[in-house]
Amino acid sequence: MLLPQATSRATALVASLLLALTACAQVQPSSPTAPLTSPSATEPEPSASPDQSPSPEPVPTPSSVPLVTGLPTPWPSDYVTGKPIEQRLPGPEEGRTHSPNTTDRIVLTFDDCPRSLDEFKETVTGVEALGVRVVLFALGNCVQQGKINVDFARQHGMFVYSHSVNHPQFTKISDAAIRKQLSPPSVQGAWVRPPYGATNKHVQQVIELMGMQIWLWDFDTEDWRGKPQDQVVQEVVQYAQAGETVLMHMQWHAFNVQAIAEMKKGLEARGLELCRIDGPATADGPFTC
Ligand SMILES: [Zn+2]
Repeated sequence: MLLPQATSRATALVASLLLALTACAQVQPSSPTAPLTSPSATEPEPSASPDQSPSPEPVPTPSSVPLVTGLPTPWPSDYVTGKPIEQRLPGPEEGRTHSPNTTDRIVLTFDDCPRSLDEFKETVTGVEALGVRVVLFALGNCVQQGKINVDFARQHGMFVYSHSVNHPQFTKISDAAIRKQLSPPSVQGAWVRPPYGATNKHVQQVIELMGMQIWLWDFDTEDWRGKPQDQVVQEVVQYAQAGETVLMHMQWHAFNVQAIAEMKKGLEARGLELCRIDGPATADGPFTC
């Protein structure tokens, strides 16, 4: 069920979710030759028609355990790879249950891998100066390549968790492969964001047996489509709701101090706050915001 005040935003969210599974598909930094959609194709559709509301009934998948439910089916082809999308993302209510955030503050999360260690450190220290805590779901191979310094980020107040070693779809690999993806050089910590948000009850069980839990998101900015910084900022400011988790990527255009400062200012104008720093972040300690 949608609350009346959430309807406009929810319809826009549904439209954006049609391609959302590929949110993490672009794990490499953008390049001039990277295929991107034209600006007109990436326009948000905040006024999407009401008949695009979520399908009320999840469709069973007989050959596998139930997927996360709550969104339309079937999915369109994968935007980047052309492979079929088989995984639903959570609706706002379900997604919230995957977050350890118990406050009304909004958590900005950034996945994958930054373009460089210098850019990473500049963003981390700049965001710290804003008093804002962001959460980073980093790839293990990015840590290995030296583009992320996990201890540095945690010392400066940012929680850093695992996003696997090299971004496979957990619903398509063996239990042993999942465990390997969550072992070093994967970031060690309490929370995991499976690549593409691809999960099911079985994957969840494997992860929980390793002592970790899944943290997905509520609002996908689709920054991976190459949206310019101003557009990502504007959409976060317009659509993010209290207590939500927002998905972005370190290698795309909103992972910088200016963008996050503008989000903070714009959300404050709506009476909303971003997650705040209350000291260094830990790997396994409670998430605080
Ligand atoms: Zn990703």
